[in-house]
Amino acid sequence: MSRNNANAEMNRETSLLHAGYRHDPATKAVSVPIYQSTAYELDGDLEKIADIYNVRQDGFTYSRIINPTTRILEKRFAAVEGASDALAVASGQSATFLAIANLCSGRPGDNVVASKYLYGNTWNLLFNTFKRLGIEARSADPRDVTSFERMLDDRTIAMFGETFSNPCLVPLPVPALVEIGARRGIPVIVDNTTTPLICRPKALGADISTYSATKYLCGHGTTLGGLIVDNGSFPFDDAGRFPLFNDGDEAHGDILWKEAVLKLGDLGASPYLLKSRMTWLRDTGAAISPFASFQLIQGLETLHLRMQRHCENAVAVAEFLNAHPKVARVSYPSLSSGYERELVDELVDARVGYGAMIMFELGDEAAGRRFITNIELMYHVSNVGDARTLVTHPVSTTHTTVPKEKREAAGIFDGSIRLCVGIENIDDIVADLQRGLDAV
Ligand SMILES: *Cc1c(COP(=O)(O)O)cnc(C)c1O
Repeated sequence: MSRNNANAEMNRETSLLHAGYRHDPATKAVSVPIYQSTAYELDGDLEKIADIYNVRQDGFTYSRIINPTTRILEKRFAAVEGASDALAVASGQSATFLAIANLCSGRPGDNVVASKYLYGNTWNLLFNTFKRLGIEARSADPRDVTSFERMLDDRTIAMFGETFSNPCLVPLPVPALVEIGARRGIPVIVDNTTTPLICRPKALGADISTYSATKYLCGHGTTLGGLIVDNGSFPFDDAGRFPLFNDGDEAHGDILWKEAVLKLGDLGASPYLLKSRMTWLRDTGAAISPFASFQLIQGLETLHLRMQRHCENAVAVAEFLNAHPKVARVSYPSLSSGYERELVDELVDARVGYGAMIMFELGDEAAGRRFITNIELMYHVSNVGDARTLVTHPVSTTHTTVPKEKREAAGIFDGSIRLCVGIENIDDIVADLQRGLDAV
């Protein structure tokens, strides 16, 4: 195994600890240093410096665009995913924004066909904010894959969805979308935030994945961050659909991205992410701080252990709730049946588990309120992916302003409770659930 580990083939658990970094070249520090520096001295040959700015050579210029600590996070996560490269940004929202904006042509007509089951802020980004910028979002139903294909046209720049939607856990038919995308020349982007290691976007054929690293990758509810991952499968060679990948891009001196990457080492692995970094990230300033990157690297080290424990606990909780007389219905991937179960089995690596998110139904809004006000251990917060167990009653929190019809269409009812099962001792989690249910 090579000592810098950059290209060595490792298993994922090992990559999480070793990929992309051995020790700091100056001090031999084993832990990744926080390069808390905005700029990098432009010493030496001026031509070499110009080459770095002109994307003819790898190098560090300014931390809004590239930073050594962040670069290690990116290389490490790309290795874990078996991807070409990754780009780290300030948050999950900025990852989704840049992943899609980077595909637009800038001419009227660009559109994205997206699952209607999305994290609320993502839904708003697509269906309101992008619309104001001239990118139309079209809503499709992951339970009917033909609804995606019907809405595609020659200006569709991506199909988008969450592998398991937050909060309702609707599985995305990724292999079927990938088949349609390959036939129609459209990339498939999946937000895999809630199922890292559980679902493998690359193995499923997804071209690009996004993550809110804020959640499980961080793992402790301390740090915002996002990752865009290029699995390297999409060619971007349709000049009508993707002119900025096939003609000179005036946002960077008329550069042709697919030729630029040929001159680069490390940064040449992905034309899609190079373009995103050198234009969209540079211009929007959605940069992650080096300290946040350090925190996320720490989180990655224990990701596989945490995911395994999250999943073990979640199965036990799902079974407890499913057998409880006061619980009307439980949604959890391993409890699904029929067509949905077949899809779940295609999407997940059952050796890791079925995820940590559970939705369950109590009779009505009053029951939901009684439950949420009587628990003691679990945290009532709208976050997901903390090591602690988190619980939300969407109707009295995240969804108070959403009209009843709209939220019920999205699968959120008066008595819906969303759980994000943590890594505590299972008996303590179940005892707290029982305490809440006793009050219902
Ligand atoms: C939290 C979340 C996001 C947004 O991520 P931030 O890091 O909070 O910006 C996007 N998608 C999903 C599925 C999420 O759970």
